[in-house]
Amino acid sequence: MTLADVINVLEAAYPPGRAESWDAVGLVCGDPAQSVRRVLFAVDPVPVVAEEALDWGADLIVTHHPLYLRGTTSVAATTYKGRLIHDLIRNDVALYTAHTNADVANPGVSDALARAVGLVGDLVSLQPFPDDPWRGLGRIGELARTMTLGEFAEQALAGLPTTSWGLRVAGDQSRPVRRVAVSGGSGDSLLGTARAADVDVFLTADLRHHPASEFVETGGPALVDAAHWATEWPWLDSAASILSSSGVNVETRVSATVTDAWTRGY
Ligand SMILES: [Zn+2]
Repeated sequence: MTLADVINVLEAAYPPGRAESWDAVGLVCGDPAQSVRRVLFAVDPVPVVAEEALDWGADLIVTHHPLYLRGTTSVAATTYKGRLIHDLIRNDVALYTAHTNADVANPGVSDALARAVGLVGDLVSLQPFPDDPWRGLGRIGELARTMTLGEFAEQALAGLPTTSWGLRVAGDQSRPVRRVAVSGGSGDSLLGTARAADVDVFLTADLRHHPASEFVETGGPALVDAAHWATEWPWLDSAASILSSSGVNVETRVSATVTDAWTRGY
């Protein structure tokens, strides 16, 4: 298989044209003509993931987060990112990113997150595209039964990969919850949308004190704030499965290395 064959499958599932205008998705390094046998999926393009790829003999790393997002004038090995790019190119390892185009896809990042935290049945987009209601940011779904906010938090914690500090919850722990909104990654911008969607709880990552406090104090849904990496990691399996079942003959692996920025909670 060539890298171009793999990219065709990924771009059918995660059309680059659906990425946000500020985003940088697609091929970061690699030659579309090079052959690909092993593909490693990871959230972050960081040195520990590159090492894992080299150790396993991967030909391609597919990450959720972009390596370069802003204008770049040097990939010299004297820089942090340049070092990583050098290590990859020297070892014939390609790097490909599916970021906001994977967030809005169906199935995308938030579908995998929704299933991981126990949402069952149909999922609908929290912020659907006007021209495509089946795609968009976030998902809304229901739990199998009504439970307390505390029980939901325990269930979500068990369903997500383990990180140094687990979850934070805002709201009355005994509050009954059933209708849930989720959004993988930083979900601050969706607080208003979650409130308007009349859900019982909104689970996302990277929430800040002031918006979260005001949201809960003014009668909004309860909030669950998880580790950024943990909310996006469930998608890796989904993306790997799409590639495996596409007929492209490659071996896939999902990196279990925790690359969340926060490495210890006290
Ligand atoms: Zn993210």
